[in-house]
Parts: sequence; C-alpha cells; structure tokens
Amino acid sequence: MIKITNLHKHFGKLEILKGIDMEIAKGEVVVVIGPSGSGKSTFLRCLNLLEVPTKGTIEFEGANITDKKYNINETREKMGMVFQQFNLFPHMSVMNNITLSPVKVKKMAKPEAEKIAADLLNQVGLADKKDAYPSQLSGGQKQRIAIARALAMQPHVMLFDEPTSALDPEMVGEVLDVMKHLAAAGMTMVIVTHEMGFAREVGDRIVFMDGGFIVEEGDPNEVFNHPKHPRTQEFLSKVL
Ligand code: ADP
Ligand code: MG
Repeated sequence: MIKITNLHKHFGKLEILKGIDMEIAKGEVVVVIGPSGSGKSTFLRCLNLLEVPTKGTIEFEGANITDKKYNINETREKMGMVFQQFNLFPHMSVMNNITLSPVKVKKMAKPEAEKIAADLLNQVGLADKKDAYPSQLSGGQKQRIAIARALAMQPHVMLFDEPTSALDPEMVGEVLDVMKHLAAAGMTMVIVTHEMGFAREVGDRIVFMDGGFIVEEGDPNEVFNHPKHPRTQEFLSKVL
C-alpha cells in the first residue's frame, strides 16, 4: 500500500530524516518506537505530506505522491491522522466535528454523514456524546472522538502520533482499546507510541528509529525479546 524510498527531511541545515526505506502492506500495523527527537513525528508527517520531504519518494496505492504534479488533497483524504493533542474544533459539537470533512471535502449529504458519524460514535463507545462540546469531554473521550472524526473520511490508512501521550494514565486504556479494535478489523495503521505493551500486542512489525534512521525493525517478539542493535537494547532497557 505504501512504499517509502530513501526519504530525507531537512529543516534548514538540520537533517532530521537520513534515508528511510519502508514498505507497508494493506492491513498491516506498523508501530514506530524510539527516543524523543529521533524523527518519528517528522516521518509520520512526511507520509501524508504535512511536511514536504527533501529527497526520496513515497508511493501510495501505486501513485508517486511526492511527484510535484500529484494532487495531494486526494491522498490526504485516504490517510487519517490522529495527534497527541486531539485538535478537535472547540466551537463545534461532537457530531459537527465528525461530519464537517465528509460534508465539506467529500460533498457527502449531511444525513448520510450523520448516519456514518452515529455508527462511529457507537464504535468508540460515545453515542451519548453527539451533542456535547469538546470542553465537556475528558481527554480519553476527546481522543476517541478524534479517532471517529478521522475514520469518518473512510481512510485507507490511519496514522497515529503518540495518541495517548497527553492523557491521564486511567484514560490510556480506553483509547488503546479503540485502536485494538481497528487493527483487528483490518485497518492499515502506522502508530508512533511509547506504550510498549500495546506495541507488542497489536504491532505486526516494530520499527525502532534513532537519529533519523531506522536502526532495527522486525517482529515484536524479536525486537522486544532479542533486540540486535546496542541502541535498541539501550532504549528498551529504559522503557520496558
Ligand atoms: P520525535 O517525534 O521522534 O520526537 P520529531 O520528528 O518531532 O521527533 O523531531 C525530530 C527533530 O526535528 C527534533 O530535533 C526537532 O526539534 C526537529 N524539528 C521537528 N520539526 C521541526 C521544524 N518544523 N523545524 C525545525 N526543526 C524541527
Ligand atoms: Mg513526536
């Protein structure tokens, strides 16, 4: 589904991504781990071109989306993204947060968008919050709404950037549960997280990044039980 070749990203003179190669298959759950500042967010943001790569190519469903002639808006609709800081629209009800893009961007009829939104609210366990405003929700509820909002665009892949890092500990589980269900339903996902138990349980593949490189990747049991690279060993010894 996604093929990344020799991806580089500079900010001015700083080289943040130093040649990333990765292939992601349909239905695969790739979990990216690594120390702060290693380039994980930059990598995710390059995938949907929130950041423009300096060098390298990203192919998505057969199209080279890094080609300047390519219409990235079309691709962005197929890539849902969930951030650490929920980014809900504060002045809109939960229902309007979820239906906004399907109606505005996809030109979906409002009743249809509302029906899809109601299904998604059921899926994330928040059917009773459709008329609430973000300020009336807990962090865990906000993040589940943010996931529902991304899913409302019927994306082909979901990108998660530390979706539970801003949450109080007791709310982490409810968000991870929603993500587990999504993975079990076959969604293609790329997840940056520090939740190692979740990574081991849900990841088809673990990618360890450090210093703008992929240092090691593989099956969760391999990477967690028998990390090969000293940097992976050092990182895991601190977080496990
Ligand atoms: P991670 O998500 O692994 O913590 P990031 O991708 O956020 O790492 O950041 C990697 C490095 O890139 C950091 O040193 C950060 O300061 C730098 N960086 C990220 N975004 C920008 C930007 N827009 N301009 C300049 N430097 C940036
Ligand atoms: Mg980050």
